[in-house]
Amino acid sequence: MASRTHVAVIGAGVIGLSCARELARAGFDVTVLEAAPTIGRGSSALANGGIRAQFTTEINIAFSRFSIAELETLERTVGGLGLHQTGYLMLAGAEASERRLRDAAELQRRLGVETRWLEPDEIASMVPFVRTEGIRGGTFHARDGFLDPAGLVAALVADARAEGATILLRAAVGAIERGFVIRHAQRDLRADAVVNAAGTAARAVARLVGGDVPVEPVRRNLAHVMDPDGAGGLTPMTVDVDTGVLVRREPAGGWVIAYADPDDPPGWDTSVDPAFLPALAARLPNRFPSILDLPIDPSQCWAGLYPETPDHHAIVGEDPGVPGFLHCVGFGGHGLMHAPAAGRAITELVARGRSETFDLRPLRPSRFVEGDLVIESAVL
Ligand SMILES: Cc1cc2nc3c(=O)[nH]c(=O)nc-3n(C[C@H](O)[C@H](O)[C@H](O)COP(=O)(O)OP(=O)(O)OC[C@H]3O[C@@H](n4cnc5c(N)ncnc54)[C@H](O)[C@@H]3O)c2cc1C
Repeated sequence: MASRTHVAVIGAGVIGLSCARELARAGFDVTVLEAAPTIGRGSSALANGGIRAQFTTEINIAFSRFSIAELETLERTVGGLGLHQTGYLMLAGAEASERRLRDAAELQRRLGVETRWLEPDEIASMVPFVRTEGIRGGTFHARDGFLDPAGLVAALVADARAEGATILLRAAVGAIERGFVIRHAQRDLRADAVVNAAGTAARAVARLVGGDVPVEPVRRNLAHVMDPDGAGGLTPMTVDVDTGVLVRREPAGGWVIAYADPDDPPGWDTSVDPAFLPALAARLPNRFPSILDLPIDPSQCWAGLYPETPDHHAIVGEDPGVPGFLHCVGFGGHGLMHAPAAGRAITELVARGRSETFDLRPLRPSRFVEGDLVIESAVL
């Protein structure tokens, strides 16, 4: 016999967990179905943990504003997130980078984000490890920063369960009948509404019910280097906008370094790209020559998959062909930082058929067939 729930959420990454937490808090009976034997072991486990409001589109800035406030609350109430609000510092050497940063900061400020423009001398004193030669300035937002991805997963799980959500593990969803009957690895589950939160598997899950979402896996690499000087103070997440390299200090010591090649093709490979370290070596000297001098240990580099979309925006909304089937997918490199907003948006859609907190139009699933895309360019 099938069991019954009001809302079934497919996937227990940060997005599915945040949806479950908000839905349960709003009084819905929620069951999360997770294929893996453990929670949050997909992309969510492999992230850098960065959180920032420094985006270039209204919807991403709105998602960040909401989420940063929620993450601050979650750290206070549940704890364990390892939230460090060190700020994000975006550096511009090229004229085009300066223009992009100034335009984005103006939009951010108009939307209530307190992003500041820093002159080269302020940058030199804030981040003395940066080579400031030829630098034009940069933008800084103090409530940006980073957190521990595993800590966020644990806090969302604790809160979702406390609100009454059920999380089933080893429950891979293999078929869905409209209406809905969800066939998963343990038994059938009937649900009035379904949330697709399957990360990089979002497209496969959508197709189970005759829907579609253009979400593709794209490999992203990170390196960790030890610093012989020890732990040192934390730094802002410091982004060289000219090259795309970002660095931050780890609380336990050393540095995390990231660079995402915009030309990387989609694929499922999660081994570290052999081109990654040479790409770093070519770009680090521009602003971070002292970090280039530190030994990169290839065994401390890792890679994971972004659930990416063509316009670098998430897909949040009902599938146009499948009433009651909601997508909450395609969060690319900003799924951790936008998880709270995603949960709120989905809960409002389930409860009222529309969101009062956000204008979700730029995230609607139908925008791809309509050819009506707004591109996020602050992609790291
Ligand atoms: C190297 C790297 C660095 C990153 N850095 C950042 C960062 O600094 N800041 C940030 O905000 N984001 C970052 N991200 C992005 C972030 O990790 C993702 O956007 C986010 O984790 C997506 O969460 P999710 O819940 O959608 O997907 P996932 O965490 O992948 O969860 C999806 C879940 O669905 C399950 N599932 C799939 N198919 C099925 C099925 N058929 N039945 C049941 N369950 C199923 C999977 O097992 C998985 O557990 C980074 C990602 C990577 C790889």
